[in-house]
Amino acid sequence: MSDCYSFETKLLHNKHKVDPVTGGVSVPIQHASTFHQPSADTSGKYDYSRSLNPTREALEEIIAELEGGTRGFAFSSGMAAISTAFLLLSQGDHVVITEDVYGGTFRMVTQVLSRFGIDHTFVDMTDLVAVEQAIKPNTALLYVETPSNPLLKVTDIQAISNLAKKHGAYTFVDNTFMTPYLQKPLNLGADLVLHSATKFLSGHSDTVAGLAVVKNSELADRLYSLQNSFGAVLGVQDAWLVMRGIKTLSVRMKQSQENAVKIALFLKNQPLIKEVYYPGLKEHPQHALQNRQASGPGAVLSFELKSTEILPRFIANVELPVFAVSLGAVESILSYPAKMSHAAMPAAERQKRGISEGLLRLSAGIENADDLISDFEQALFAVKNSEYKEGVR
Ligand SMILES: *Cc1c(COP(=O)(O)O)cnc(C)c1O
Repeated sequence: MSDCYSFETKLLHNKHKVDPVTGGVSVPIQHASTFHQPSADTSGKYDYSRSLNPTREALEEIIAELEGGTRGFAFSSGMAAISTAFLLLSQGDHVVITEDVYGGTFRMVTQVLSRFGIDHTFVDMTDLVAVEQAIKPNTALLYVETPSNPLLKVTDIQAISNLAKKHGAYTFVDNTFMTPYLQKPLNLGADLVLHSATKFLSGHSDTVAGLAVVKNSELADRLYSLQNSFGAVLGVQDAWLVMRGIKTLSVRMKQSQENAVKIALFLKNQPLIKEVYYPGLKEHPQHALQNRQASGPGAVLSFELKSTEILPRFIANVELPVFAVSLGAVESILSYPAKMSHAAMPAAERQKRGISEGLLRLSAGIENADDLISDFEQALFAVKNSEYKEGVR
């Protein structure tokens, strides 16, 4: 499709807009696991669905175009995509990885890769000097998540990619929080982009899926071979759900982000809230960097309550957001990183990273922002009231 169209238009008008066989305005779900071959010595494009399936292929082509890569790959979960990408490394390699990485990625690196002789160093990737100091002669990968989870620290993708190139290492970026609507890491020098498509890309809390997009064809061939070898491919029904979600990505992200901005501004003026972490706030330490490398701050923010004691009462009083793990859905999701996404991280490691027991993460949905703000207002009021009652008793 023509490159002259804007991102919003490309979400709908791409190579897979119309099924070439029937004219259907939706990609057909091809359930076949195996494909009839024409003869003993000729084989068709498709032979077995782990290796290639037309429905999954459509999603892989769509995400590759949106991220500006050469080839996309769809996996059965974000962790399947991330873990398969780590298999590009070999025994003896070393990884420099952002310290407040997703809990599942933390577990993969510390508990699995370590058993296969792949070593790692966690660093605060907002500190480029610390990143360079962590690089060793055997460093093969710089692994970035930006904005990070759950503290929304922003890493300079271009600077990290330059460092990686200088030291002959790859740069992988987990782009789950931003999606290609807001940020395109491959255009900033990254080699590989990863997604939990479970989140904003599918967007409706009804699919678990992962995606990877690769910049150059040599790396694409290697990742294809690993996808086929490891076999954690995405099923066709789920591939279809992700494609349907992607059609509305821009309107969902736009609305969710607008809501997040309003909520962040509201929360930062509340006496019961100690700190709001959101790259959309002027006082965020990497606000300018975020504006430079992405076209918006996204829809996820975190905030710290004044004390851990008031947290259960606050949670009990909030009515609209779902209290759950995950993010990136049409409904707002409030989660408790210490007990949810980062439960896989030992308490001491969490403390070191500033993930306190009073920290909550909000993924803003597409509800009316005023309703969400009123809800937080009444929950904070209920907390304040009970504090007051306990005080006078
Ligand atoms: C959810 C998430 C993952 C893991 O994806 P799954 O689809 O749950 O396997 C990885 N990275 C980030 C940033 C996530 O939010």
